[in-house]
Amino acid sequence: MNYDDFDEGRFVAPEENIYDRDIENTLRPRTLDEYVGQDKVKENLRIFIEAAKKRGEPIDHCLLYGPPGLGKTTLAGVIANEMNSNIRITSGPAIEKPADLAALLTNLADGDVLFIDEIHRLSTAVEEVLYPAMEDYAIDIIIGKGPSARSIRLDLRKFTLIGATTKPGSISNPLRDRFGVLFRLEMYSLEELAAIVSRSAGILGINCAPDGAMQIARCSRGTPRVANRLLKRVRDYAEVKADGVITAAATSEALKLMEIDSLGLDTVDRRLLETIAVTFSGGPVGVETLAAATGEEAASIEDVYEPYLMQLGFINRTPRGRCLTKAAYDYLGMPVKTDGQMSFDM
Ligand code: ADP
Repeated sequence: MNYDDFDEGRFVAPEENIYDRDIENTLRPRTLDEYVGQDKVKENLRIFIEAAKKRGEPIDHCLLYGPPGLGKTTLAGVIANEMNSNIRITSGPAIEKPADLAALLTNLADGDVLFIDEIHRLSTAVEEVLYPAMEDYAIDIIIGKGPSARSIRLDLRKFTLIGATTKPGSISNPLRDRFGVLFRLEMYSLEELAAIVSRSAGILGINCAPDGAMQIARCSRGTPRVANRLLKRVRDYAEVKADGVITAAATSEALKLMEIDSLGLDTVDRRLLETIAVTFSGGPVGVETLAAATGEEAASIEDVYEPYLMQLGFINRTPRGRCLTKAAYDYLGMPVKTDGQMSFDM
């Protein structure tokens, strides 16, 4: 993994970054019972796993989708563990050529799980190798060049492909159709996030009071990765300033120092909201225009910032662009703009 690629600047970013380096793997749940929340997904998975085990077969290929940090990689590991199989982890951008994928596939043993993160970033040529692999457990290899070239079919072991993506809309239809099951991961409730924080605190030997866990949950943007990261940072603060106990008050103080407010919003989120409010009179504004005005990338706005701002009910996505809601004006402490073309979701 190349940590140089990580955005070091933004503490509440849901993607994996340098702050997670030492804790991410220690904290990953290993079983469905340890995996907090996502009850519907877990309920279905229990049935699939039990049925597959009874038949002595691997489970169907699964596609997991949802914003970063919600537990897709973790869930793939849990599935492999529950199936008593090994997991090989790779990602779309890491598989550059069809031969790279062929090498991975031919090395899989019976029942192995192949996890491809960011599967929407596979090239078409690589994707085409996956089709027969997923459907018939085989790959076609071309031997020779020119008129004497011929294709031979290599049989593979029966494996399970688990794909993960933050952009299900970017996956081609032929690839999507070859997954037997699609699971959408949802943002976590406060109670679930507090349970994750308490579990992680237990593993890391951190003294975290229930009100401290709840306060961290409130600032975690519905995302376990952010919850674990905040826990670690608040622990440092508590050790120095609050006798090592994480309470609601210690959490608030620690986050204030990082300019993260009680909803988990940081300066980038506030700048986005303020720009829509002030520069664009509450919207509607297109994502490209908003990106240009704030200096953020359009893709980051769509995939990273907006999902949580929408979950808070601060932004509405309309066909004409993004609009600010009354709740957002209240949050910013600004009078609601009523003369524009705002559309409120009341
Ligand atoms: P994704 O692959 O969706 O970006 P990860 O699976 O890497 O997310 O999860 C990020 C971190 O959040 C992991 O270190 C894991 O410990 C924690 N986590 C994710 N989902 C859960 C969950 N349901 N219960 C407990 N911890 C979780």
